[in-house]
Amino acid sequence: MTSEGASGGVDGAVGSARDGAVGGAAATGPVAFIGLGHMGAPMAANLARAGVDVRGFDLSAEAVGHAHEAGVPIAASAAEAVAGARVVITMLPVGRHVLSAYSGSGDGGGDAGLLAVAAPGTLFIECSTIAVDDARRAHDLAVAAGHRSIDAPVSGGVMGAEAATLAFMVGGDDADVAEARPLLEAMGRRVVHCGGPGLGQAAKVCNNMILGVSMIAVSEAFVLGERLGLTHDSLFEVAANASGQCWALTTNCPVPGPVPASPANRDYQPGFASALMAKDLDLAAQAIASTGVHAEAGSLAAEIYKRFAAGDGAMRDFSAIITDIRERSGGVSASPEGPTA
Ligand code: NAD
Repeated sequence: MTSEGASGGVDGAVGSARDGAVGGAAATGPVAFIGLGHMGAPMAANLARAGVDVRGFDLSAEAVGHAHEAGVPIAASAAEAVAGARVVITMLPVGRHVLSAYSGSGDGGGDAGLLAVAAPGTLFIECSTIAVDDARRAHDLAVAAGHRSIDAPVSGGVMGAEAATLAFMVGGDDADVAEARPLLEAMGRRVVHCGGPGLGQAAKVCNNMILGVSMIAVSEAFVLGERLGLTHDSLFEVAANASGQCWALTTNCPVPGPVPASPANRDYQPGFASALMAKDLDLAAQAIASTGVHAEAGSLAAEIYKRFAAGDGAMRDFSAIITDIRERSGGVSASPEGPTA
């Protein structure tokens, strides 16, 4: 249960790349990197840059092409990537992709599963954002196949992946997390060991539930303020220095003006897309259901973002939820100078 590194760990965080800055990463031996999409390709490229013997694989020829251009050595198949690897990292869309890639069933490309082709005792590092139950299932499958496994989902977004400034939330045994740490530190700047298997995903789900609920609360407050006659600047000045202070307000402020770097100032280009927030809140809703926790705000936030992401909000920053709230409120002015309607 340790925390190291600089502060940060929010989707969209940026910083400087760490070319060759991580001495211990290369010592972990060959690493198979499965899933070279928006996140996986730059993460694998940062490992290669740190001197790690990486072999990447993706089912998509386009993803493989981009990863190769970014400097990731490519294997012809998942089996070829995993052969001789000491560590297998997966960065896949959702839980069913992880489970099918592990076991070889479903849409795993017709290959034998990763667990079957890996050498006994291989360390599996599962970095995708998936349900806590799926993370525990993946861990159990890996252990049953004679391997070791940790879950290590990330925050920091594509920019964090490119800049090697990701935050990793890790669940697994102490020794396995210690072995993985140099690799994670080559791809990020903060590694938090949250507890046993599945608890990295649990931490990610809980954090993003706070984020989703707080962004809705901040957005509702701004629209209510508009309707009551408050300027954005006045409300920001009060709340940012009072008990309403939170990341959704002071870093990712949903109205243009008070925080110049927030996505609201660039027509809500992400940032952290609403589709990803909807996905993460759905994972929270699954965890709420499986645990029986009475989390009304979290459940409602999942519904609100699901509805928003089903329309044209999907690819907008999640702070654009304020535009939906304003529209449903009868179109109050978005002028930072105050309401006009
Ligand atoms: P992506 O869709 O860009 O990439 C996923 C890749 O996995 C695709 O290229 C796909 O072809 C590949 N794939 C699927 N099944 C495969 C298999 N069996 N073998 C090999 N490759 C396979 O997704 P992404 O944006 O890179 O996100 C990956 C994960 O990271 C997701 O779980 C996402 O929720 C999480 N995440 C994303 C962000 C972000 O900002 N994009 C931020 C934090 C976490």
